[in-house]
Amino acid sequence: MIARRTSDISPFIVMDVLEKAQEMERRGEDIVHLEVGEPDFDTPSCIKDACDRAIRDGKTHYTHSLGLFELREAICAYYFTHYGVTVSPDQVIVTSGTSPALFLTFAAMLEKGEEVIISDPHYACYPNFITLMEGVPVPVKVFEEQGFQYTPQAIEEKISPFTRAIMINSPSNPTGNLLDGERMAAIAELGLPVISDEIYHGLVYEDREHSILEFTDNAFVLNGFSKQFAMTGWRLGYLIAPKNYIRPMQKVQQNLFISANSFVQWGGVAALQEAEADVIRMRDIFNTRRKFMIQRLRDMGLGIAVEPTGAFYVLGNIKAYDTGSYEMAFDILEKAKVGVTPGIDFGNNCEGYLRFSYANSMEKIEEGLQRIETYLKEL
Ligand code: PMP
Repeated sequence: MIARRTSDISPFIVMDVLEKAQEMERRGEDIVHLEVGEPDFDTPSCIKDACDRAIRDGKTHYTHSLGLFELREAICAYYFTHYGVTVSPDQVIVTSGTSPALFLTFAAMLEKGEEVIISDPHYACYPNFITLMEGVPVPVKVFEEQGFQYTPQAIEEKISPFTRAIMINSPSNPTGNLLDGERMAAIAELGLPVISDEIYHGLVYEDREHSILEFTDNAFVLNGFSKQFAMTGWRLGYLIAPKNYIRPMQKVQQNLFISANSFVQWGGVAALQEAEADVIRMRDIFNTRRKFMIQRLRDMGLGIAVEPTGAFYVLGNIKAYDTGSYEMAFDILEKAKVGVTPGIDFGNNCEGYLRFSYANSMEKIEEGLQRIETYLKEL
């Protein structure tokens, strides 16, 4: 018998789309990828050089389970420079990606049956992390017309005696929207711990992003290098937590993961200290693609009520069509040879949308959207 713990987990549909697309590519088909959330850019060379040096200098052994002190210090300096908040290296745990940071957070926080409030749409994996720890995800619907922004009032209505935390993700996957500072402050004032997934920080094209730590210390920050530094395959992330949670999380890290990869952590130090110009260069390119994609999708009739201003996603509204998002995404893959992610991957309230990623070249985006336009005309 397969344990319910794993049989209850739903698949990460975007990976199913990607894997099917790759199978078609192996058969010689030409697929345009607008489904995956990973930058098409090469990792900046200052990061690769630092990693190379670390390997050559023999930095190839386990590190401290909390992570290299130099990296934890660099993370604290980064948060001070960008958000004016003071955190100490003993509040930081370096992990093998943001995903393990999510795992450690929920492992240390949740008793069976405790609830975590998440937005709907939300990052596909959040409910599964919570369920794996025997917690209960409690979705709060957010709406296109309001830029998919969480309202503190709607959150408040879902708070119960079992609520353990409120989860936020700004800029958000899949909506690309930003929570403004006022709303973040109001969410913090609800008095519950806030888990803030800040992985898309650095990829904001209008206004600016805020860290939850600007508003409360009763918070868990999850962040990583995958997106803004184009380092998805390096598997490097971190979490910043209240001090009393560090030791329990450290014990889980020691047992399950020992430490994050040593030379990759040296790449992380370089990313935070030397890659700013590269981040700006990539962000400018993302922004050009963002504007193009929003305009093109609107021209095709896939309404976008509020322009997304962060991350690298646009949700296109397909409610004018009878087809469900899952069926349509796979049909687009088969017939138009373009990978897109069905909204249903991101919660029931995201049905009726497709997520388009602009983490691909302008040329590919143009080609992919052209193919989709032809497909929609033929429907
Ligand atoms: N959070 C969000 C919102 C994401 O979109 C992703 C990646 N798709 C992750 C966390 C996990 O990122 P990683 O493990 O690569 O750091």
